[in-house]
Amino acid sequence: MDTILVVNAGSSSVKFQVYSVEGEGKLRRQIKGQIDGIGSRPRLRAGDANGNPIADRAYPIEAVPDVPAAMGTAGEWLRDELRIHPIAVGHRVVHGGPEYDRPVLIDHGVVARLERFVMLAPLHQPHNLAPIRSILAGFPALPQVACFDTAFHRTHGPLADHYAIPHQLHAEGVRRYGFHGLSYEYIANALPQIAPDIAKGRVIVAHLGSGASMCAMSRGQSVESTMGFTALDGLPMGTRPGQLDPGVVLYLISEKGMSASNVQDFLYRDCGLKGLSGVSNDMRELEASSDAKAKLAIDYFAYRIGLNAGMLAAALQGLDAFVFTAGIGENSATIRARVVEQLGWLGVTLDPAENARHSKQISRSDSRIPVYVVPTDEELMIAKHTLSLLMTRPSTNPRQERVS
Ligand code: AMP
Repeated sequence: MDTILVVNAGSSSVKFQVYSVEGEGKLRRQIKGQIDGIGSRPRLRAGDANGNPIADRAYPIEAVPDVPAAMGTAGEWLRDELRIHPIAVGHRVVHGGPEYDRPVLIDHGVVARLERFVMLAPLHQPHNLAPIRSILAGFPALPQVACFDTAFHRTHGPLADHYAIPHQLHAEGVRRYGFHGLSYEYIANALPQIAPDIAKGRVIVAHLGSGASMCAMSRGQSVESTMGFTALDGLPMGTRPGQLDPGVVLYLISEKGMSASNVQDFLYRDCGLKGLSGVSNDMRELEASSDAKAKLAIDYFAYRIGLNAGMLAAALQGLDAFVFTAGIGENSATIRARVVEQLGWLGVTLDPAENARHSKQISRSDSRIPVYVVPTDEELMIAKHTLSLLMTRPSTNPRQERVS
């Protein structure tokens, strides 16, 4: 069986999925797993295609001290115990910089170029690149593909791509990139099957998970995003504040004596729903809480989504559909209802029964703008890109490069 391995590596976890390649290039998820607690309490957990557990084992810290070691452990488990020898590996890479507007087959030159973007995403890019480097060293013939969170947004025009700062900084890479691009691309590909006419129109997609952003799409292409230079801007998130006056950062430095790394930790870990509520970064816990600050955090979340929807509708000069996706967007009928309330002025009306059922379309049939719930699948998007680059690259039968 030909398989594709998809890898999503972060600072303390390596998530992976294995897809089998079936007839006509169809992909089927076979295994979903992760090693988390890297460098603290490493643990490998994995499930089969139906979500049944197939591994749950702990390792001593010394055995999995860092991301390359975690990749090695996961790879060994797949090869030695499950006899899985992928024909290619697809990686989620957060930053493709100004140049990469699509996935790319990796070689040493590509890795060197992607290393230049570490300064643009210091918390993510090094961890994304670590397993790429270790696979390149250990299995040089195994094709690897980098899929970028920024690539889908490279269709932005200059107005959406700039900050009002001196041009030199833009030239250096200080731009409004936008993220969650693999999720938006998946939705853009799914929409023609769900609502063919809408897919050709002006759509706002709200990716509401622990990270949250919204994308304005016109004819399936990104024209504007709530995120910018980093994944901090835009909507409030689990632990990130979203839009914040840069003056607040100056205040933290000058009045609170915080260093750059203190501020970074604060903005990535202590703000957002967690900071505002003082209860949790997890929407389920906020919904279940009777604390007034948890209610404030939920109100703020819905309010800011409404505000940003107005901005994106202006970028699109109108709106033909609104789509919810990701953990909160797919699962929380309460938050969807609160957001739709905020969108009432645009002519959106909710069908509460369809919303409670998590139906594909949750707006009433007479709603001026239809509202959809579309589950996203970034890993499948990576697997598809990987297979398609593998099939179109010059040379070789991929089976010849299988690692044994
Ligand atoms: P993600 O990052 O896409 O996995 O989404 C994680 C977020 O989705 C967390 O804030 C979860 O609390 C939230 N979430 C998942 N399921 C539900 C649910 N049934 N109701 C409310 N929030 C949920």
